[in-house]
Formats: sequence, C-alpha cells, structure tokens
Amino acid sequence: MTQALSQTRTGGPALPQERRLVTDIPGPRSTELLARKKAAVADGVGTTLPVFVEAAGGGVIVDADGNSLIDLGSGIAVVSVGNAAPGVVRAVTEQVAAFTHTCFMVTPYAGYVEVCEALAELTPGDHAKKSALFNSGAEAVENAVKIARVATGRDAVGVFDHAYHGRTNLTMAMTAKNMPYKNGFGPFASEIYRAPMSYPFRDGLSGEEAAARAIDHLDKQVGVANLACIAIEPILGEGGFIEPAPGFLPALAAWAKDNGVLFIADEIQSGFCRTGAWFAVDDEGVIPDLVTTAKGIAGGLPLAGVTGRAEIMDSVHVGGLGGTYGGNPVACAAALGSIAEMKEHRLDARALEIGTLIRGRLEKLAAEHAVIADIRGRGAMQAIELCAPGTKDPDAARAAAVSAYCHKSGVVTLTCGTWGNVFRFLPPLVISDALLEEAFDVVAEAFAATA
Ligand SMILES: *Cc1c(COP(=O)(O)O)cnc(C)c1O
Repeated sequence: MTQALSQTRTGGPALPQERRLVTDIPGPRSTELLARKKAAVADGVGTTLPVFVEAAGGGVIVDADGNSLIDLGSGIAVVSVGNAAPGVVRAVTEQVAAFTHTCFMVTPYAGYVEVCEALAELTPGDHAKKSALFNSGAEAVENAVKIARVATGRDAVGVFDHAYHGRTNLTMAMTAKNMPYKNGFGPFASEIYRAPMSYPFRDGLSGEEAAARAIDHLDKQVGVANLACIAIEPILGEGGFIEPAPGFLPALAAWAKDNGVLFIADEIQSGFCRTGAWFAVDDEGVIPDLVTTAKGIAGGLPLAGVTGRAEIMDSVHVGGLGGTYGGNPVACAAALGSIAEMKEHRLDARALEIGTLIRGRLEKLAAEHAVIADIRGRGAMQAIELCAPGTKDPDAARAAAVSAYCHKSGVVTLTCGTWGNVFRFLPPLVISDALLEEAFDVVAEAFAATA
C-alpha cells in the first residue's frame, strides 16, 4: 500500500503522514494539561504516554504542541480503520444530525438491526445467528455469561490463565492479573474457574496436550456437568498476545460441544480484521456458540456485541437483555461505516501485509538482541516477549526502558503481559509501510540505546 493511498484515508483535513517532533515529549501544552488532569481526574485513571491529542488519522496522532507521533497502538486495537476514518465520520455526522438516542428498547431504529445483520454475516459459522448490542467489551462478556447460564441452566464459567475480560465485577473475576485490574476490588463474583492456557513459549506443549491439561483441570476441579460455558480469547490480548498452539482451540471447542458447554470466543481485541481474518478463530475453523466483539467494531465509538446461535440467544426472557445506551444509534452508524471501510479497503488482507512487515523487522531485531526471547502473533497483532538472555525470566525493566525511549522519540508503543514484559504492536490497518518502517527504526534504536 502506498503512502498516498493511506493519506487519502485520513479524516478531516488530511494529516501529513509523518513523525515530527517540535518539542520534548510531553511538550509545554501537554505538560500544562497534565497538571490539570492531575488536579481534576482520579489518579486511578492512568496514562501510558502523556501527550494530549488534538487530531489523529491514518498512522499518526498529533498532540497539543504540534508533535506528530506514529501510532502503533490504535487506542488499544480500536481504530483499526484509522482515526476519523472518512466512512465513519460521514455515517456518524449524518446520524448525529438525525437523532442521537431513543433507547432501542423503547422505540427501535434500523441501524441497530443492520449491525446485528452484519454480525450474523461476518462472525464464524453459517447457522442462524442473533445478536444483542452493548456499550463496552466488559458488558458484552457479562451478557454472554448471562445468556450461557440461562441457555444451559448451569452456573460455572471456565476461564484461562493470563485472561483479560474487563474491569466490572464479573469480568474482574474472569480476568487473571491482580495488579492493576483486581487488587483491592474484591470480593469477586463466584463460580469462575481458571484453567491452564496453552502458552507454547513457556509450556512447550502441543495444542492437543495443552487442551487435554485444561480439560482435565476443568473436569476434575469443576465437573463438566456444572459448566455453563468456557470463555477464551483466541489470541490473548492484555495477557501477553499469547497465541495458543495449533489444535488447542479446536480440541476445547469439540470437548465443549460434546458436553453441552457453550464455547464463548472473546474476540474483543482479536476481531474485525486485526489478525488478517474477520475473527481469529476463523484460522482454525472453530465455530463458537457465542462471540463477543467490541474495540475494532466501530472506529472508536463505544459499541459491543454478543452474537450467537439463535436458539441460545433466544433462551433469555423478553426484557432480560439490554441497557439504556446499548447499541446507541450514533455508535451503530459508526460500526456500519467501519465495516464498510474494512470491506472496501480489504483491511483483512492489509493486516496480513502489515504482519509480514512487522515480523520481518522483529526477526531482525531478535537476531541482534538476545533479550527478545519470543516473537508471536498473527496479522497486525504482533508481539515480542523480553526475558533475561538465555532464560525465561521476564525482563519488565527492559520493556519499560525501551517503551520510554520510543515514547520520547514519537512512537506510541504498548506493553502487556502478566509480567509486563511483552511489547504488543497494533497499528491502525490504514498505516503506510513507510511509517511502519520508520516506527520500527525507532524501536531498533530503542533496543540499541537501552542495551
Ligand atoms: C479490552 C477487552 C475487554 C474489555 O473491553 P472494555 O471495552 O474495555 O470493557 C474484554 N475482553 C478483551 C479480550 C479485551 O481485549
């Protein structure tokens, strides 16, 4: 993809697709705003890179001091279609001028139905499907569990090591990592049981072996007849971009099916073209009973969905699902605009190209820096795990040092992982090759400078 094409995809006044530093990071205006944040915003709401944004589009974010940063995070896998993508801006502008809210449960509107139709078309499997829409990923996961419990008449929920499912009470219980997500916030919801995840770099198990371990754990410690569902991220997000060994997900799905346990794929981070397919489970032909979506679905507007087999979705009594804002008309318009952009620009294929470029750069980097112990990921969802050379001891300090260097140099990078030692690369799918190459030049500089 050419740089020019990428430029035409930016919203508003086309932003120059360049890294440009005109002040220190953060500059004086951002520093002023940071002081106001400190005074007015709760400290619990943290900041990864303290510049205040004024515009963003294509592969760049422009801050209040006029610095232009290369975006390798997409606001955590959200603006896959780019910030202020033209199709999203158009759809949202029309909708916001027509009406902003009625509550779908009071007087419905077509946009909500059209998003559910699109979800039925795009999610895995050709069975009859229905959806319900919500505001956030956590809310979607909560509702998927509610639906699975009603549909099966069972209580227990199986989740996995290193999982991240959100910050509400039920989803905190489902999330693995204590700090910062859970510490002090309990007691947590009951009937959540955690099984070992397939983590090829650390367990060396094949997919089948890792699945047998997880299944044995759930069967012996919970009892399969008590399980309503298992919820799993096909590629773990916050937990470290852990890609299970091939065969793990199909084996779990087959076991779930044989035992009346619903298989919930949490595709909130991995979905909507991010991995080079519409959904990450597509790569192994796994057909979940329920799929949760959010993040990449609506170009940055808050929207989430649960999509599943029609008979499972319809097991809930009328009025049992919903919420004041769920499937808000402006967010639905944004989703329809985003999905159209993904189809028009073949962003699934573009994610694969981006993955190939990033993988090449990471392999070169790993050959030079023994601290890079593992490279993994799929499409535009790539990661490296940093460990003390020759060991599997996590090196979070080095990850922090490399991050700090990248941030000061105008590249937005994100870390993740149970030990905070994983870099995850999640650029917008409309970023140009030239910007990506420049960003990875900076990442390489950062590794060299912190060696
Ligand atoms: C981000 C995320 C969530 C939570 O979504 P929110 O919109 O932040 O509530 C749930 N599951 C996965 C896999 C996520 O990446």
